[in-house]
Amino acid sequence: MAEHTYTGSFPLHTPGKITKASPSDVRRRNRSLIFSLLFPSNQCSRAELGRRTGLSRVAVSDVVNDMLEEGLIRENGFETASTGKGKRGTLLSIDTTRLRIISIDLSQEHLIQGAVTDLLGLPQQRMEIALGPDNHIDVDTIVQFADELRSDLDVNRIIGIGICTTGVIDRGVIRESTALGWHNVDLKSILERRFGIPVTITNDVTSSILTERFFGQGGPNLLFVRNDQGIGAAALIDDVPVVGESHAAGEIGHISIDPDHGPECPCGKRGCMERMISATALRERMRGLSHDEQMRIIREAGTYLAAALAMPIGLLDITDICVYGPADIINNAFLEAAQERLDRTTTSKFHARSVIRRCQCGTDITLRGGAIAVVRHYIEEG
Ligand SMILES: [Zn+2]
Repeated sequence: MAEHTYTGSFPLHTPGKITKASPSDVRRRNRSLIFSLLFPSNQCSRAELGRRTGLSRVAVSDVVNDMLEEGLIRENGFETASTGKGKRGTLLSIDTTRLRIISIDLSQEHLIQGAVTDLLGLPQQRMEIALGPDNHIDVDTIVQFADELRSDLDVNRIIGIGICTTGVIDRGVIRESTALGWHNVDLKSILERRFGIPVTITNDVTSSILTERFFGQGGPNLLFVRNDQGIGAAALIDDVPVVGESHAAGEIGHISIDPDHGPECPCGKRGCMERMISATALRERMRGLSHDEQMRIIREAGTYLAAALAMPIGLLDITDICVYGPADIINNAFLEAAQERLDRTTTSKFHARSVIRRCQCGTDITLRGGAIAVVRHYIEEG
């Protein structure tokens, strides 16, 4: 798959943000442009950054010097190919050695996972705690957990705390999370008051799509589906994450695909996606069945998913559909059945062929995305 480079301001523009022209806004924009050219793993000289951003040498040098001092970027050897015009430029890249992020994943069953990561979201230190049988998490547990992760760190090196959770999140307030049993909890304010550093709360699927975009194979137009305990989606359109009217874009778990005959759902409807094709629901249905029967159920689930996605694919003209989920469910049978249905439903002379594929980002996908969300916030607001 082709590599995609970012042309917009890093990392992924926040919808609705308008760049005003005050000097600090211009500076922030320049910083964001330069950071986006280096993130996650590019190396550029100052001269190349100037060429690619159109900024003057002085402007580049100003921003670069600040970012070097801040610990965001570092000097990293010299350009190899000489252009024949004077000395080789010093290469700049993202500095993974100085600044740190505390990332906490609340989206998993039975445990809370956390890590101290570098600016690329790579865990440098990990911690996890097991939850009781009721899976209950309260705010105090999160505060203590973050405190422990922070304990060995120099506070000046931490740029923020990132929390990932299932549910609908609106500017740091968890509006609704069925898994946590939370309603209108302003976790961001609570943690910011306690720790005095910026806190970013991100939906687990949104954080996963960030990881897929920057470290997986996803391009700027991407439909991402996460299928484990529940099922959720996220979409990127021209590198802008779709948020939605009520911050609930991608909450497809309780969209019914069989309202007449599907299984009853605790939400009151029948045939919700979550009851029909989530990994948890499928495992329940497959228990005790023969291998052939199990594969029939898996293929049927793949077909259902593709049928449900056909309309958003047509609506948004997206060709890349990435599915994250456990290997026993999101297997070849699932993907083949889904692809077959997509081919039958979405092929037209207007659209390139939509391809459904398995996400390869691994189990740190959420933790990593939570950290990237913090970096994104830091660069945009910084
Ligand atoms: Zn439901």
